[in-house]
Amino acid sequence: MIKVKAKKHLGQHFLKDKNIAKKIADGLNSDLNHVLEIGPGMGILTQFLTEKEYPLSVVEIDNESVEYLKHNFGDLNIIEGDFLKLDLQKFGNKIGIIGNFPYNISTQILFKIFENRNRVSEMVGMFQKEVAERVVSPPGSKIYGILSVLLQAFYDTEKLFTVEPGAFHPPPKVRSMVIRLTRNKTEKLACNEQLFVKIVKASFNQRRKTIRNSIKGITGNNNFQSEFLTKRPEQLSVDEFVKLTQEVEGYLSLE
Ligand code: SAH
Repeated sequence: MIKVKAKKHLGQHFLKDKNIAKKIADGLNSDLNHVLEIGPGMGILTQFLTEKEYPLSVVEIDNESVEYLKHNFGDLNIIEGDFLKLDLQKFGNKIGIIGNFPYNISTQILFKIFENRNRVSEMVGMFQKEVAERVVSPPGSKIYGILSVLLQAFYDTEKLFTVEPGAFHPPPKVRSMVIRLTRNKTEKLACNEQLFVKIVKASFNQRRKTIRNSIKGITGNNNFQSEFLTKRPEQLSVDEFVKLTQEVEGYLSLE
């Protein structure tokens, strides 16, 4: 069967290098009940995943790729559609997510993993290097941001390896990096989680401003006091955002 023609609007950059595909597939190492590959394309990664013990499903939006997969992988469970619209509930819990992801929806994939943090135990994925670096970044760095805080609150994050553009067809304009997220032991944060998300987002949406200014919309124009008010968001660790959220919670309940 002829190969799939790469479509730019679907973020299609097919991996050519089988050794890299194998390394990604070998990256999942938790005890998982189900593995979901996002964007299998022509299945370079899928072929290694089908050799593993866990049940596997793949979700692919591109009809041409789906036809290719049906033709080349006999009994693969293929879901034709958009990962972003997929209800992960049907895969139970202890799900692993893996893929050489479409870069145009990287951050949406990561937010979806965050939202499904009690189902998704592990993720191994290829991102554009800049996005990957942001996810694993510690506090104090310019690239530390919303996704770093939200994901690191619930996942241990690790860089696995970088991949050069030449490993893909067609080559992307950016370098790539494979990272791993492994669910940590935190079941619930020691604060209101919705408020935590709101505060983290508000803080980084105006990252040059102090926390005092950024969270005014949440606390109101008031005399809320906290040791963090004169800081900028990149200076706060996950635990400090939790502490700040507790303080805001206390303040709002007294108002
Ligand atoms: N894993 C393959 C293809 C990577 S390219 C390889 O390494 O060669 C990214 C893939 O994601 C493409 O196959 C593209 O069609 C698919 N894709 C893009 N948007 C998607 C979405 N919203 N849901 C599921 N798959 C998507």
